[in-house]
Amino acid sequence: MTQKTGGKTPVILIQLADPSVPYPEMTGDEPCRQDPDFWFPAHGVNAGPPKAFCVACPVLDNCRAWALANPYLAADGIWGGMSHTERNALRRNAMRRAA
Ligand code: SF4
Repeated sequence: MTQKTGGKTPVILIQLADPSVPYPEMTGDEPCRQDPDFWFPAHGVNAGPPKAFCVACPVLDNCRAWALANPYLAADGIWGGMSHTERNALRRNAMRRAA
């Protein structure tokens, strides 16, 4: 995120991680536990199927919140039913609204 600096060199803020958002407490029933590789589809491969499984996950909200708060730890793959591109777009929009 770039902040307005009144003519000075812009400051780029990159959030590496937000420790205030805890990693979701897993129960073992999460769909991604069965086949983790399925949640990391190759570039260009349809991510719809793993996202559809996330919808039924008992920790969906917490998983999504953690992934959004920890972009470098959850850089790839489907987390909380969202792709890397969707998470980045959501983060960018939130930063624009906050600026
Ligand atoms: S919401 Fe998170 S924990 Fe649940 S299946 Fe999806 S990636 Fe796994």
